[in-house]
Amino acid sequence: MEENGSVSLYEVKSFTSVKEIYLHDVSIQYYVLSNLGFRVKSANVVHIDSSYIRGEELEKLFCIVDVTAEVEALQGQILQRLELFERYLADREHEPDIDIGSHCNKPYECDAKHYCWKVQRNIPDYSIFNIFNLGSKKQKALYEQGIIDIADIPDDFEMTAKQRQAVENYKAQTTHIDKEAIQAFLEMLTYPVYYLDFETFQQAIPRWKGIKPFM
Ligand code: SF4
Repeated sequence: MEENGSVSLYEVKSFTSVKEIYLHDVSIQYYVLSNLGFRVKSANVVHIDSSYIRGEELEKLFCIVDVTAEVEALQGQILQRLELFERYLADREHEPDIDIGSHCNKPYECDAKHYCWKVQRNIPDYSIFNIFNLGSKKQKALYEQGIIDIADIPDDFEMTAKQRQAVENYKAQTTHIDKEAIQAFLEMLTYPVYYLDFETFQQAIPRWKGIKPFM
C-alpha cells in the first residue's frame, strides 16, 4: 500500500507465463479491493522466469507483468457473472442444466465433478472416459451418441490398435498377453543383464548452481 492509500496488486503464480485464467484470478482480487474502497494503482501477475539460471545464490527468479488494462477490461464481466450466480442460487427448484464435457477438467478439475458425473449422469467408474489416450473429441463423439459403456462402442469406431485391443478385451472380459512378443524380446537378451533405474523431479525454485526452474 502507498501513502495515499492506493494499492498495487501482485498475484504470484508458479507457472512460467501469464495464462488467460490468471487474468480472471487477478480480476477478482481487483474487484474485491476496489469495492472495499481501495484505489488499485496497478495489477500484476508475478510468474517464474523460465530463462533464469541459478548462480551461487538465488537471485531474480520472477517476472512481473503489468496486467492492469486487461484486468480493468474484465471488471464488467465480473458483475454480470455474479448476477448470474445469484440468479442460479436464488432458484431453489431448478438445478443449472449444463452437460458434462472437457470443461469439467479444464482449466482445472471441477469440484462438482462427482455430483455431475456420478450422481446426476450415472457415469460408472470405468467407462469410455477411461480408454487410454482416447482424447476428448472421440469421447465427446461417443457420449453424444449416448454411448458410455465400453461394451456399446461400435466395432467400426475409429481407434488406435492399442485402444481397440483394450476395448475388445473389455467386451470379451479377457486379458491379453502377447506371449510371442515377450518371448522374442527375452531371446534378444544376453546375460548378465544390467540396468539402471532412475527417478527425476522438477523444482520450481532451483536448489543448485546452473539449474533452471523446472529443469
Ligand atoms: S462437473 Fe463442474 S464443470 Fe462439469 S458440468 Fe458439473 S459443474 Fe459444470
